Amino acid sequence: MYPLEKVITAYRQTHKCDFYQLQLIMDTYVLIVGTVEFVSKLSARVFDRFNDNINACYDWDEVLPEIQKQQPSILIIQANHKNNFNLCRKIKEQSQKNWLYCIFVEDQFEGNDQCLPLDITAEALGNGADAYMAMTSGASGSTYEAENRLLLAQIQVGLRQTRQFRDLIQSNIVLSTIAVTDSLTQIKNRCALKSELPEQIINARLCDQPLSVIMLDVDHFKSVNDNHGHLVGDRTLQILVARLRNQLRVQDGFFRYGGEEFVIILPNTEAASARDIAERLRRLVDKQSFIVQPKERLHITISIGVSTLDLTDDEQGTSLVKRADQNLLKAKAAGRNQVIPESQS
Ligand code: GH3
Ligand code: MG
Ligand code: MG
Repeated sequence: MYPLEKVITAYRQTHKCDFYQLQLIMDTYVLIVGTVEFVSKLSARVFDRFNDNINACYDWDEVLPEIQKQQPSILIIQANHKNNFNLCRKIKEQSQKNWLYCIFVEDQFEGNDQCLPLDITAEALGNGADAYMAMTSGASGSTYEAENRLLLAQIQVGLRQTRQFRDLIQSNIVLSTIAVTDSLTQIKNRCALKSELPEQIINARLCDQPLSVIMLDVDHFKSVNDNHGHLVGDRTLQILVARLRNQLRVQDGFFRYGGEEFVIILPNTEAASARDIAERLRRLVDKQSFIVQPKERLHITISIGVSTLDLTDDEQGTSLVKRADQNLLKAKAAGRNQVIPESQS
């Protein structure tokens, strides 16, 4: 059986990983860097044959481009000179892959000086390598077998670390998504708005495009809760979001600002179009009642304030959102269920 598969099988048995985790491990690439002789010696020792998971690089100048191209998780580097040791650190820094597992392999160890491997191991690890091992020149029998097993064990450690790293990245992605998502409506929350609005403003100014913001609030929403209960209130917000989201383009950003207030960022949208969009949203809510329970219909309305980016607006979007909010307050004061666009403010 192919050695890497053996490693994977052993890993699978000890870690009882599921198919998905196995896929991650199978996606792990090993890149061997060294002379043709080194690569063939190593492959004769531990890799029966090369397959898609294992590649070689014979040119030191090509190591970084190869890493970028192949995205390996494990590097096996020929350690014929100890000055090479800080190469791991350089490679990790320059490729921005701190987690890349670097194993240095000395393939011509003479075996006379028993302290030498210990010294070199300490030096290699101190200089950024993750593992170091010496393979005795002309080794045979049990020494040969033991050295091969040790190298495979080192690869296994690399695989384990890669898996842990990828699990961590995935948890981070999940947690960051949770942090910026509103749990009731599943749209982005105010925290996401805080980071996305400045980006949209910079982009609009760079591309010399208009940018508008809509702020909307459900009218007399307290009475929905008071008359029908909070669960119906929650359901109403969910239906409202689903209905409004259907009307937006993929590039529009939809955020729950808080409670029953929402913000919509409209990239590449000038004031007149933003007003038309806001008016369309308002009508859409007013026109059709909400079926909140099988036999329960609710009629709600929304008030909307609109603002459009101008030269005086700050980069954080504070003044832009504030104008939309002021227009929203005007819509409320003017009797609710209406849109106050930028031009009227
Ligand atoms: P106005 O037209 O002036 O906006 O009146 P309003 O009643 O909508 O405004 P008010 O600020 O007095 O009340 C907002 C209500 O929204 C009170 C609050 O309990 C309710 N609310 C906020 N968030 C939620 C939520 O997640 N679920 C439910 N069910 N109610 C919510
Ligand atoms: Mg309200
Ligand atoms: Mg409100």
